[in-house]
Amino acid sequence: MAIKKETKYIFVVGGVISGVGKGVTASSLGLILKNRGLNVTAIKIDPYINVDAGTMNPTEHGEVFVLSDGDETDQDMGNYERFMDLNLTRINYMTTGRVYKTVIEKERNLEYKGKCVEVVPHIPLEVIGRIKKAGEMAKADVVIVEVGGTIGEYQNILFLEAARMLKMESPKDVIFVMVSYLPTPGKIGEMKTKPTQYAVRTLNASGIQPDFLIARGESNLDEKRKEKLSIFCSMPCERVISAPDVDSIYDIPINFEKEKLSDKLCDILGVACKKPDAKLWNAWKNFAKYSHNGKEVVKIGVVGKYFDSGDYMLSDSYLSVIEAIKYSAYSQGRKPIISWLNSVDYEKHPEKLKELKKFDGIVVPGGFGSRGVEGNLKVVKFVRENKIPYFGLCYGMQMMVIEYARNVLGLKDAHTREVSPSSKHLVIDIMESQKEILKNNLYGGSMRLGNYDAVLRDGTIARNSYGKKEIVERHRHRYEVNPSFIGDLEQAGLVFSGRSPDGHLMEICELPKNKHPFFLGTQFHPEFLAHPLRPHPLFTAFIKACIPKKK
Ligand code: GLN
Repeated sequence: MAIKKETKYIFVVGGVISGVGKGVTASSLGLILKNRGLNVTAIKIDPYINVDAGTMNPTEHGEVFVLSDGDETDQDMGNYERFMDLNLTRINYMTTGRVYKTVIEKERNLEYKGKCVEVVPHIPLEVIGRIKKAGEMAKADVVIVEVGGTIGEYQNILFLEAARMLKMESPKDVIFVMVSYLPTPGKIGEMKTKPTQYAVRTLNASGIQPDFLIARGESNLDEKRKEKLSIFCSMPCERVISAPDVDSIYDIPINFEKEKLSDKLCDILGVACKKPDAKLWNAWKNFAKYSHNGKEVVKIGVVGKYFDSGDYMLSDSYLSVIEAIKYSAYSQGRKPIISWLNSVDYEKHPEKLKELKKFDGIVVPGGFGSRGVEGNLKVVKFVRENKIPYFGLCYGMQMMVIEYARNVLGLKDAHTREVSPSSKHLVIDIMESQKEILKNNLYGGSMRLGNYDAVLRDGTIARNSYGKKEIVERHRHRYEVNPSFIGDLEQAGLVFSGRSPDGHLMEICELPKNKHPFFLGTQFHPEFLAHPLRPHPLFTAFIKACIPKKK
């Protein structure tokens, strides 16, 4: 397949340490190029054997980000969508497992016409095919491809080989950006370039020479170090770009432009770019500025269970939720202070519940399985009775329904089949379409995933927040509100304000404003559609409800 002339490819790779910021770098490159009038798309390559991120525990891999078509992907895809304002689909995400699976299926279908199918070249060729297809589908001027993992490890070698082969095919259309880490050892007190030099040499051993170096570290690079890196990594000084630690990731594209990176990228790619788009750039700069305005705060407690990974608290598990809170808080002139509350704690220490009064609002995000559920239910009861604003996302909505059934309807053993299948009152039950799937252990990619429509009831918080009657939101669940309890729950005061168009599936529930300032849950994940420049209406309604309490 010949490359469409005008499509350019930027591969982003990482050196020295994992978590160096490739995802945010790739996202920022996309934004600054979009700002110069280029049509950009992005691809994430994860070196795992997992076919998608859906079967991975969030404490191991971070949040599972769901695309509109239901693909369960890496959290970086969320960063791409938010920074570049894209709507990505499964062609924009690949893993080792996904690539091998396709190649093996093709082989079984005789698509290789009797040839011996080998790791090289067939795996890299499949990767290249996917990269080109994503570019074609988006009619992209530039495709940004982030290669997961760190240079020098075994797992991403075939993806680097694909990149090298694509560069061979069309040298002028492919460039490499290496994001590397420069440590400043405490006792030495100066930024060290050697690990990066080694990382570049290791990349060279794969036949690839980086065109740009994004130098991550505590501070800006001085001229001396830029020169050193330029000499030892074989690139002009002006292509060594400082990327110091920042308080807000949204400053990164702005910092890149201080080094005129979009000009330099367009220059080396040989693409004609426009003047910066003043409207987009000013909006972004304004938004980034909010994150530094700290006068008025709004204190949000997020009650979850995917925090504890050894000694670390991994807020990565709920990345989109945190960002969605930020966008809505900034839009209301507030700086959010987010506290992590472990649901398991409230099971052992119910006396801790009263600490929830310190917060302006509580969020219970998505989750799976039984751990922490009783703690969550205690939290929901407490915030309902004490009129603390509450926003439940997916599992957080299911918790609302169970709590209401237990403590208002009086169905003491009300539960979800996911946790207590023998309960007499399964107010949350498995969706009909899921029964066969679970019986056959077909767990991967089989939930109710991605975009589904919902219709909102007039006069409700949901309807007023969206300002429209029909919505589309992203989903990821197997269980639903059991239709046989809806009548009783509504009679007891819980309002199902959003339903699937056929009326069968409950998508949003809430208590009326005269009963509670904000007690609302969604079966879908609104956090996936929150955008820096377009905060999500339900998160904004929640934050607004949190504010009057704070005087
Ligand atoms: N475990 C619940 C279900 O499968 C909720 C899922 C979620 O919170 N994403 O329905």
